[in-house]
Amino acid sequence: MAKRKVKKTQPVRMSEEAWNEYIRRLRLLSDDTYNWVMKWLDGLDIAGLSDAEWNRFVNLLYIKVVKNGEAAATLSAELFEYMTQNSLENLAHVDMFVNDDIRELYRMVYGVKKYGNPKLIAEGASRYVKLSSVDTVLGNALKYGCEVAWIPHGDTCAFCIALASNGWQPASEKLVKNGHAEHVHANCDCTFAVRYSRDVDVEGYDDGKKYRKIYYDTEGSDSSERIKNLRRELDAENKEEIKKQQHEAYEERKKRKEQTEADAKASFKEASERFFDI
Ligand SMILES: [Zn+2]
Repeated sequence: MAKRKVKKTQPVRMSEEAWNEYIRRLRLLSDDTYNWVMKWLDGLDIAGLSDAEWNRFVNLLYIKVVKNGEAAATLSAELFEYMTQNSLENLAHVDMFVNDDIRELYRMVYGVKKYGNPKLIAEGASRYVKLSSVDTVLGNALKYGCEVAWIPHGDTCAFCIALASNGWQPASEKLVKNGHAEHVHANCDCTFAVRYSRDVDVEGYDDGKKYRKIYYDTEGSDSSERIKNLRRELDAENKEEIKKQQHEAYEERKKRKEQTEADAKASFKEASERFFDI
């Protein structure tokens, strides 16, 4: 652990707006990576590509994911500085943990290309970029002895709720496995926040209280059973929500159609009245 000077703390509450902006910027980088892969593979017969073509693809993808990974790590290094500024003074050495192991990228691509689904490769590449962000937060948190919390975002999955229900916890080797943060998937925008002092939190997270309530209100004798039940509940809720949205869209279309017909009738009436007035 690095030597550090500890400042007298001022409470810091990261606003929801600032947090959302951080997530939005990370999302742009993930999406850019995802779209790059989809565009590159668009219309190609994945099963028919030669090893030389795959190698060319992975080498180009590598440039893309390292570039976007550096940008993601920079954002996360800034987040680290922001969230610990009230208590840590010597932050000259916030490191960037950019995921740049090309062998890992090869393993990912060769592991999923056999399924013939470009989306799997795009998701893997996007996860590879997200790891640069999460590893940067966790790596520095370990170095400076900070606490981290998993902050859910948007429609979150059962697994993320379970992680969030832990509240703030010390960064540990256990959270970092094989050099990477575990549990990172490409599709969700949930990620780690960090703090050194207990005065720091993210607005709306409040030490994970509401997630603890959701998690422990779900039946189950152990965590895997509870996550399974929670997933089922969330799926059912999502289905209801989708049905509701579809119904609303249908009503909206119907209303618009009726309105257009009524407008047409009215303007015809008006036009004919004017015609007969003359
Ligand atoms: Zn999530």
